[in-house]
Amino acid sequence: MKNKNDIRSLTLDELTSFFQKNSLPSYKAKQVYEWLWKKSCLSFDEMTNISLETRKLLKNKFVINHINIDRFQKSNDGTIKNAIALFDNLFVESVLIPTKNRTTACVSSQVGCSLDCEFCATSKMDRIRNLNPDEIYDQVATINSQSLNYYGKPLSNIVFMGMGEPLLNYNNVIEGIKKITSKTGLGMSPKRITVSTSGISKMIIKMADDNVKFNLAVSLHSAIEKTRNEIMPFTKKFPLNDLKQAIKHWYSKTKKIVTYEYIVWNNINDDDEHINALVDFCKFSPSKVNLIEYNSTENSLFNSASDNIIDRYIDALEKNKIPVTIRKSRGKDIDAACGQLANKLK
Ligand code: SAH
Repeated sequence: MKNKNDIRSLTLDELTSFFQKNSLPSYKAKQVYEWLWKKSCLSFDEMTNISLETRKLLKNKFVINHINIDRFQKSNDGTIKNAIALFDNLFVESVLIPTKNRTTACVSSQVGCSLDCEFCATSKMDRIRNLNPDEIYDQVATINSQSLNYYGKPLSNIVFMGMGEPLLNYNNVIEGIKKITSKTGLGMSPKRITVSTSGISKMIIKMADDNVKFNLAVSLHSAIEKTRNEIMPFTKKFPLNDLKQAIKHWYSKTKKIVTYEYIVWNNINDDDEHINALVDFCKFSPSKVNLIEYNSTENSLFNSASDNIIDRYIDALEKNKIPVTIRKSRGKDIDAACGQLANKLK
């Protein structure tokens, strides 16, 4: 049993050559591939247009690893949080966020996280492993079905803002997105996908050079180095100046506007110095700001600033013609809110 490969780790070409080696027609490989991806099939027995004999051969050689919804919670505001069990009994969380005009999937890229953002619940877990491309794809496919079942429409957007740092699992995230956007997968537009990073500059440069078609969000939270180093200690190795250069490169290559995610906390970044630094930071390359409402975690040092301070941020940004949106917290009653995902997983 243990030696069997996950059939979904094979590309279509690899699967086709397996079929050819076994004297089976190539078009059958294509049909199996469709069952595995487009139809998210969970067992070989569901592949009704594949002969029993071929199914037996596949069963002897391969397994189909797939995710399972282990727990499911629906919030008063319609947000659905899924605790997702992986094949090796590890867990991640994936969230469906319905709003008036959109249904958004918030998906995870790693089990745990290796970064140390002080305000984030996931950082309290270690990074246990990277998610595979199929596990990334499956989260989106699962949430897409939920969106159809509960809200009668497919997903409109996907954000990599669940557990983990997507740019530290770059290859698998790229492979997962390829599948999500491919015609043999879910056929979603990359323009509807946003990858959020805490600011791994080298990887932003690589993404730009790879000519990716999805959007980039950077968790900035402070444009003052000292503050950023305090609340996100790992950033001592990732200075703001490098981040600036990487974002400049990103824009020059992709012509896509970066979004800065920004939380305002009492006594951390609630003064004019921080407001001015953010306005300044937004100017070197076209950008917009998403002010995120803070969801409290067990770390009591972080408390959301008052509306009055947030309004001062908005005024300053608007005066400088920098687009700003506010992201209200969703799914608070079920801990599905941003940065809280790891709270009750164990
Ligand atoms: N590692 C990536 C993606 C996962 S976190 C990143 O840092 O961007 C997704 C977003 O949630 C980030 O902007 C992060 O700073 C924010 N976040 C973390 N904890 C939060 C909390 N408790 N409340 C609100 N947002 C939080």
